[in-house]
Amino acid sequence: MRRRGKSAVLYPGSFDPVTLGHEDIARRTLKVADRVIVAVAESSSGGRAPAFPLGDRLEMLREVFAGEAAIECVSFGGLLVDFARARDVRAVVRGLRAVSDFEYEFQMAQMNRELHPDLEFIFLTPDARLSFLSASLVREVARLGGDVSPFVSPSVLRRLEQRFRAGTGQ
Ligand code: ADP
Repeated sequence: MRRRGKSAVLYPGSFDPVTLGHEDIARRTLKVADRVIVAVAESSSGGRAPAFPLGDRLEMLREVFAGEAAIECVSFGGLLVDFARARDVRAVVRGLRAVSDFEYEFQMAQMNRELHPDLEFIFLTPDARLSFLSASLVREVARLGGDVSPFVSPSVLRRLEQRFRAGTGQ
């Protein structure tokens, strides 16, 4: 059925780990879509090794969105446009925190349009209190022993504590 595909929006990212900023964007998307498919990328965009393996990043996403039937969490490899075609999804959502996000997001959206002209990109802004938050900043603060409890869900906090337990972080 066409209707199903139309109302689903893909939310791709590395989610290394998922933060309250990501959660905010996924839930906001449900105001304009029936379903959100949170899609964690196997490879990170910078080519750097992620702090958490793919399986852990997916598990954390599933934990934070457990009980939210309209939010599905999956992983994908390869091109986003190919994954969108395979899932019959017509729109992708991305979060825009500040002007600094804009240039990269604009380039990606234009390139993806070349690859898949029918795929639309939707940009949402988070709650202002989350607009400074990035997964990399959360990782950095956690690695140095700072309190990141205001920025991530409790299950993610536990994983960060295990990952960067004093003295073993790198
Ligand atoms: P990050 O930049 O945090 O490492 P990802 O690559 O996982 O994140 O990002 C996936 C998407 O989520 C991107 O569109 C990114 O701009 C968005 N995003 C990340 N953090 C936030 C936030 N605090 N508020 C709004 N959008 C965000």
